[in-house]
Amino acid sequence: MTERHPTLAQIEQFIQGDLDDIQAIMVSVHLGACSQCSQLAQQCQQRQASHSLMPASDVEAFDDADLDQILAQLDSEEPASAQPDVETRSPTQLEFQGRTVSVPPALSTLVARAGPWSRVVSRLWSATIQGHQLPYQLNFIYMEPGGSIATHAHKGLEWTLVLDGTFSDDRGDFHPGDLIQCDDQVEHAPYSENGCLCLAAIDAPLHFTSGLARALNPFSQLFFKPGG
Ligand SMILES: [Zn+2]
Repeated sequence: MTERHPTLAQIEQFIQGDLDDIQAIMVSVHLGACSQCSQLAQQCQQRQASHSLMPASDVEAFDDADLDQILAQLDSEEPASAQPDVETRSPTQLEFQGRTVSVPPALSTLVARAGPWSRVVSRLWSATIQGHQLPYQLNFIYMEPGGSIATHAHKGLEWTLVLDGTFSDDRGDFHPGDLIQCDDQVEHAPYSENGCLCLAAIDAPLHFTSGLARALNPFSQLFFKPGG
């Protein structure tokens, strides 16, 4: 699976209503920005509609091989046929540090519950989203231009949705709508040349792994306040 899209299984779970609220919000924002995944979602929807009309034994398995084929096919199409489903509702405004950024309306409940912004380390800001009953910590994260997060691994899952600007790590550049999932196999050092606003959900504290940055491990708690 690619590094900036939900998995096919997650798209299917989204269509079935099986994702938790936060994952569903993040996937829906991604679908609004990604024509490939929104087409997959439509196909899942059609399949599920037809599945409900036929015996289970007739249902054709839809696996990652199909997905690769579909993505390859979509990649080869002209951009003109790959316009994202544009959100028609007016966007929600997120204000911080004298900036105002428009974010998709699906995030309005999260914006309303965002706590005060605080500086985590130089050029890195975070606002914890309060009041959700899920096992992970939810933050808006803003990297100022030139900002970075020291090399870290994950003890659990980290979902990051890019909302504005671009960040990069050794896997490439990530743009608005990209949904990046890291698990305990991934170690990375995100940075942003021009500034980047993200929504990040993690289910365990980050673990900083590189040299001096290990001293940052106490700060990892700033990203993760259980029950926050
Ligand atoms: Zn996608």
